[in-house]
Amino acid sequence: MQKPPRPLPQATPETKEYWDGLKAHELRIQRCSDCSEFYFFPRPFCPSCHSQNVAFQKVSGKGKLHSYVIAHRGHPAFDAPYVIAIVELNEGPKMMTNIIGVDDPTPEKLPADAAVEIVFDDVNENVTLPQFKLV
Ligand SMILES: [Zn+2]
Repeated sequence: MQKPPRPLPQATPETKEYWDGLKAHELRIQRCSDCSEFYFFPRPFCPSCHSQNVAFQKVSGKGKLHSYVIAHRGHPAFDAPYVIAIVELNEGPKMMTNIIGVDDPTPEKLPADAAVEIVFDDVNENVTLPQFKLV
């Protein structure tokens, strides 16, 4: 059976800056200019104080492993086993992502709070995905 293509996201007006940032190998998330909170996913208002005075800002791409599952049987577009993770960025927000670069992933190889950093996965000329690796 032929492997189906990986499902890919499509930018919306609210997320275009985020996806453009990834294409430029920068992680850009939004920050509220009134309460200074960073947040993710992109949306036109601050989830903490509801201010619309928000702007994208480049962030470090560094964080820690908050939680994950190891998928042994998943979507046919992915080579199992693979790691679906929630990473907590140093700036505060959490992102759902994959942890890559761990051969035959096990819980022993993926301790909670492990330091991680972003890897920019250029899937094609239009889409770059944020993946993370252990550091
Ligand atoms: Zn705010």
